[in-house]
Amino acid sequence: MSEAETIGVDLGGTKMLVGVVDAERRVSFESREQSAGQTEKELLTGLERELSEAIATRPEVAAVGLGLPCTIDQRRGVAINAVNLPIRDLPIRDLIGERIGLPVFLDNDASAAALAEHLYGAARGAQNAVMVTVGTGIGGGLILGGRVFRGTNGGGSELGHTVVEFDGHPCQGSCPNRGCLEAVASGTAIAREGRIAAEREPDSVLGTALAEGRAIDGVLVTEAAKSGDEAAVAVFNLIGRKLGAGLTSFANIFEPEVIVVGGGVAAGAGELLIGPAREEVVSKALPPMNRVSVVGAELGGESGMIGAAAMARRELAEQNGEGP
Ligand SMILES: [Zn+2]
Repeated sequence: MSEAETIGVDLGGTKMLVGVVDAERRVSFESREQSAGQTEKELLTGLERELSEAIATRPEVAAVGLGLPCTIDQRRGVAINAVNLPIRDLPIRDLIGERIGLPVFLDNDASAAALAEHLYGAARGAQNAVMVTVGTGIGGGLILGGRVFRGTNGGGSELGHTVVEFDGHPCQGSCPNRGCLEAVASGTAIAREGRIAAEREPDSVLGTALAEGRAIDGVLVTEAAKSGDEAAVAVFNLIGRKLGAGLTSFANIFEPEVIVVGGGVAAGAGELLIGPAREEVVSKALPPMNRVSVVGAELGGESGMIGAAAMARRELAEQNGEGP
């Protein structure tokens, strides 16, 4: 496989992380930009600006890997539908490729994160692994038989849109469904449950924050739980168990060796979220699937970016006839 550096982009619902990464996973350039609340055009302009900066810093870079929170048509290079960003049927591979003059490859952001954890992190050596990324939404990536599973068109493995509550809470963004895992266990759901807890328990840290007019978001609920606030810890117990309900189904379906929980929310909350999810899997999955290990991502919030860079390096090598 090529030794050249490649650019990895993790375009999330809240932020865009761009990095230049070599084959040994060394990161020589990194930048962060906001993505929340932007139009498709603004996202493209921001992406082009960050990529240009990365290329100016590391001119020898060979290709770009885009990890997108979307369903994807890999053959045509089109981002088809993002739940939490305004991206629809966007031929992003060719658009960005023409603007920056480098080969561009696409993958789902959570599939990219799964590849990174498989190559370098918590799923190393696993033949079968499930990755979920908990952030604004919930992404899913699958390693099956030692390879990233992408579906027929590269659409991916949208594990976050697995229904865990029939006729449950409406899902977010462009998803027409209800009761998806993403609707009940994402960072957005943590914020929602945090606000409910703050109203119910005005003497808690969450209640005090609400009275002070602060926005109850996932970060605040995480900080409150880490400081020992019982109301906030209870929110994580509830959300963690709901996440675990989804993970139990994935364990039963795929019998993976490991389930890796990544994404920004999980990176911040750690065992507060993963602990209750693991307990749910251990107690509810069928044997022998209940013996699966449920662990945090080892590459933290960087797995999507590192995986997108690794994916681009692989695709480039394959295109050049070097094999994977
Ligand atoms: Zn959904």
